[in-house]
Amino acid sequence: MRQRLPKNTYKALRKTIDLGVELDPAVAEVVANAMKDWAIEKGATHFTHWFQPMTGFTAEKHDSFISPTPDGKVIMEFSGKELIKGEPDASSFPSGGIRATFEARGYTAWDCTSPAFIKEDTLCIPTAFCSYTGEALDRKTPLLRSMEAISKQALRVLRLFGNETSQKVITTVGAEQEYFLIDKEFFKKRKDLVYTGRTLFGAMPPKGQELEDHYFGSLKERVAAYMKELDAELWKLGVAAKTRHNEVAPAQHELAPIFSSTNIATDHNQLIMDTMKKVANRHGLVCLLHEKPFAGVNGSGKHNNWSMSTDDGMNLLEPGTTPHENAQFLVFLAAIIKAVDVHADLLRLSAANTGNDHRLGANEAPPAIISIFLGEQLTDILEQIEKGPATSSKQGGMLTIGVSTLPALPKDATDRNRTSPFAFTGNKFEFRMVPSSASISGPNVVLNTIVADVLSEIADQLEKAADFNGAVQQLLQDIVKQHRRVIFNGNGYSEDWVEEAATRGLPNIRSTVEAIPAIITEKAISLYARHGVLSEVELHSRYEILLEEYSKQINIEARTMIEMGKRQIIPAVIKFATELAASINTIKAAAAGADVTVQGDLLAEVSSTLASFKAKSSALEKVTEEAADVEGGALTQATFYRESVFPAMGELRKVGDYIETLVDEALWPMPTYGELLFQV
Ligand code: ADP
Ligand code: MG
Repeated sequence: MRQRLPKNTYKALRKTIDLGVELDPAVAEVVANAMKDWAIEKGATHFTHWFQPMTGFTAEKHDSFISPTPDGKVIMEFSGKELIKGEPDASSFPSGGIRATFEARGYTAWDCTSPAFIKEDTLCIPTAFCSYTGEALDRKTPLLRSMEAISKQALRVLRLFGNETSQKVITTVGAEQEYFLIDKEFFKKRKDLVYTGRTLFGAMPPKGQELEDHYFGSLKERVAAYMKELDAELWKLGVAAKTRHNEVAPAQHELAPIFSSTNIATDHNQLIMDTMKKVANRHGLVCLLHEKPFAGVNGSGKHNNWSMSTDDGMNLLEPGTTPHENAQFLVFLAAIIKAVDVHADLLRLSAANTGNDHRLGANEAPPAIISIFLGEQLTDILEQIEKGPATSSKQGGMLTIGVSTLPALPKDATDRNRTSPFAFTGNKFEFRMVPSSASISGPNVVLNTIVADVLSEIADQLEKAADFNGAVQQLLQDIVKQHRRVIFNGNGYSEDWVEEAATRGLPNIRSTVEAIPAIITEKAISLYARHGVLSEVELHSRYEILLEEYSKQINIEARTMIEMGKRQIIPAVIKFATELAASINTIKAAAAGADVTVQGDLLAEVSSTLASFKAKSSALEKVTEEAADVEGGALTQATFYRESVFPAMGELRKVGDYIETLVDEALWPMPTYGELLFQV
């Protein structure tokens, strides 16, 4: 921009980007023209407003730059108006009842805080998407609103600490993205993967992840080639892909970018997911982003690393070497602790989807209970504060390895903890529950808003205090006393913790359907209204969308299972049983008195298991049909899917996976877990 825009235009645009000053249409006109020239030089012929409707995916409709001239030629044009505003038909995107199909107008509005980029031959302009009446229909709008909210409240607190220079506070995010890579030929033969993104049947092979030989293992050539191209494609889009490695489960990998402002990080995470899939296709691979593509091995998540920083570059969650003396840090820390405790239900919901229902609370992912890991040093300081002013910070010291040629290493004051859903990791928090396939907008809207809310209370309180230092001490003490229950440094995967959390009164919300109502409680509605992040109408619309999405996804999964059972598994098993029966008859005819007990026993077991499989399949079919007709609203219907359809799927799978272990491998009608997980 600095190279291509006239100085004044550049300055004006920067003011809008950095300080939120309203955009002048004349500026947009000049920017549009410069953008067009830049894009055309890079081979672009089209432009699109790129937005994030409530589907969780991104949407784009391409227009070419061409514009006819009176003399029958064309010129390449792109106006300020086209840059600022788009008008996609809104009626076919999920709106949760805000839009009826006959009132279809929707608008996209240029988000100049997120850089435009070129994808293939198209200039993509990040935009927010709203209805004719101004309600947000997307994931970007509330995120931008929440960023303004937290900036405003955090600045109030900073001013009280004597900071007069910072103009804005931004939240920063680095999202680590986990994914699986499998062979495309195998993928195409699995209806469950094609329709639902996860396997609905599949017996575990003799080897899973127990040898822990995949984590950080050296990359297979094919995977390395994929990752190399993926990085290059992402760099072209302006996404700073940084780390790549193998993850715990076989065929599982991870990519992490360098962190950026939450808005850009959210856009970039969408681009990362999109690019992962596209590049995989070029390598004869398929990238699975589902939270639990395979039972029996780890699933995928996203670690949402989150912090707050001023526009002049100060990380507000940097404790320094003596955090007990850093009152400003302690106030921000306390605000987060309180926010997470008070709004645990909203955070839990922000991490809920059908895929994550298989992970959270199972022994591979954080539990469904929200708690905070602070580590030894900070916990110790908070314990001191509870009793009076804190006077010391525990230090890490040096680590000697016992070999004189190896350097002594400075040791962190605190070890890491891998089992906490919300862990302090040095100068940021890592929210580890986030689903791998979903936009990170949701979790960050919640984080920004709940922290903004507590910061506003804190600012109210401290602004009227006569004795500032005394008031800060009192405030910290109160928060520690009231909210220390949410701090837990132990093993989050243990059964003991589930019990302990219950005695502490922490919510343990086990499934998506149970989590969704949190979005329309009185508490949530007033919270989001106070900060102008989401109106009551918008919250209700999101509530409906979430419930419908849940029901639809379980319905697709159930119907896929039924179809695979009827048209693939049952016929294959019958074939095998027929072979067995024929073998018995042939052998008996050839050698009267020959021992055919093996075939006989196997035939009996296969036949009875098949009968049980058919019975479970019919049962699933029946409840799935019932589910479609459940009346009484979206919550009642989703609850029926959760309580009746979902368990019936589990029952059918159990028998199906057992049958797989009985049947001749050559007759099994789909690639097995062994092939999917170990033959990349
Ligand atoms: P892990 O040890 O959890 O695997 P990684 O090094 O893979 O951690 O990823 C850490 C992520 O945190 C990176 O995306 C990094 O850019 C991000 N990060 C670092 N500092 C901050 C910060 N201040 N705010 C937000 N994210 C940050
Ligand atoms: Mg991590």
